Amino acid sequence: MLDDKLKTRLNFCTTLPSLPAVAIKIIELANDPDADIGTVCQYISLDPVLSAKLLKTANAPIYRSRRVATNIRQAISILGTHSVIVIALSFSLASSLMKKPSTDLAPTFDSDIFWRRSIASALASRALGEKLALSFLDDLFLAGLVQEIGILAYSAIIPEEYNKILASTIDHDQLLNAERQILGAGHDELGYALLQKWHIPDYIALSCINSHSQPTPKDLGPTLQSCVAVSRYLADYFLFPHETEKMTALTETAHNWLGLDHAALIDVIKIMEVSLKSVEDLFDISIHDALEADGVLAQAKELLMIHSLARMKELEEKSQRDGLTGAYNRMYFDETLRREFNLATQYHLPLTIAIIDLDHFKKVNDTHGHLAGDSLLVTVVKTVCAQIRQDDTLSRYGGEEFALILPGTTLEASRNLIARLKEAITEIAYELDDSCIIQITASIGVAAYHEGSTTFNEPLDMIKAADSALYAAKHAGRNRIVEWNSLL
Ligand code: GH3
Ligand code: MG
Ligand code: MG
Repeated sequence: MLDDKLKTRLNFCTTLPSLPAVAIKIIELANDPDADIGTVCQYISLDPVLSAKLLKTANAPIYRSRRVATNIRQAISILGTHSVIVIALSFSLASSLMKKPSTDLAPTFDSDIFWRRSIASALASRALGEKLALSFLDDLFLAGLVQEIGILAYSAIIPEEYNKILASTIDHDQLLNAERQILGAGHDELGYALLQKWHIPDYIALSCINSHSQPTPKDLGPTLQSCVAVSRYLADYFLFPHETEKMTALTETAHNWLGLDHAALIDVIKIMEVSLKSVEDLFDISIHDALEADGVLAQAKELLMIHSLARMKELEEKSQRDGLTGAYNRMYFDETLRREFNLATQYHLPLTIAIIDLDHFKKVNDTHGHLAGDSLLVTVVKTVCAQIRQDDTLSRYGGEEFALILPGTTLEASRNLIARLKEAITEIAYELDDSCIIQITASIGVAAYHEGSTTFNEPLDMIKAADSALYAAKHAGRNRIVEWNSLL
């Protein structure tokens, strides 16, 4: 919460610029739903610089108008009254605040990066709206522009104290936390208070508050607040296009908050690049040097490609695993066995497989419940995986049956490992609660292909062999290992 001391400082601050008369008039118009063209023209014409900028804007390529405006009245008819008011407000706020001599502010406050970031956010917020076919693009620009105004306000009202906080953090979220802890309120609240003091319409001022958290639920569709929230990440990336982690943050927020995928993000960056020149010109600021600007889109495409590949790999890995135990699934087992079998027969390499079936598992479920049974299965997988090599594959073959593929391993070489696995399963003492420990045993059927053997013609023959060895192990009393031979 903003305490009284901060409120008073904000209200009586002499280092924050007071708004020029034209800006105050424009704010009045922004709050007046009945503002008419005549009054708007009259106020804007009082400021020749502002009038020139508005004309330039109306004729800028982003408005794609075929008409050329030569006076404010024509600009209003091209842009619409509401847009003209909002654009005029963006210009007059930015120009009066940007003029502030930096000597009055906290020394570590970097005015140049602050404005580059604010204008990039405005551009980003508008571009997101354009991609999402929203109708309030100029409001998006203004809201994006002022969302971090609280940082400027803090630098002006308590320069020395804020200087220490700014110097101690590099990350934006860290900054916000530090402000909340040390000053009792973040720059989001202070920014909102400042915009309220200036009577900026609430739907714009609120962008300060909401820009730091998950905006309104996604199912409401894209809103001004959600676009502004994403614009912060987009601007950050746009300014530092080589920083992979900024792209990661951007793709996550753009996807979660606006439902935008990688292709849509590329489109948004394209839109930003198209308007970049005219916005830099109108606000008399250079967001990028020419070299960098050309690279943003190419860099973004490359990073998104890497991102997509990593995501695909993640999804692929997930589709190969069993959901409960994390062991590979049956499909992966079938594919791996086919591949290993072909390699073994083609290059005369040994290959051993084993099917592990837990003994009397039904009883575990019946006695301790299905959930305890599930946890025990997870523990069995962990125990087995801790013993096998990277090349070996453990899959969940069925409910409480697991299949092991040991490539390049002869029957003799597999004996030690398989005996160790059986022992390790027997040694599991699964603690259900203080008074109950569950223990189990396993039966294991083994089948091995050795160099030059013609016993197995296809992978399925090996599975059948391991299965009949397992059946023999169960028959012989369970808790044992049986190796397949042709007499079984
Ligand atoms: P044995 O193999 O020694 O002949 O007896 P068993 O009781 O283990 O064999 P059976 O194949 O008759 O039963 C397997 C049991 O495993 C049946 C089922 O309740 C249990 N099971 C299978 N999948 C799961 C699972 O995902 N979670 C749990 N908790 N139990 C499972
Ligand atoms: Mg069983
Ligand atoms: Mg079974």
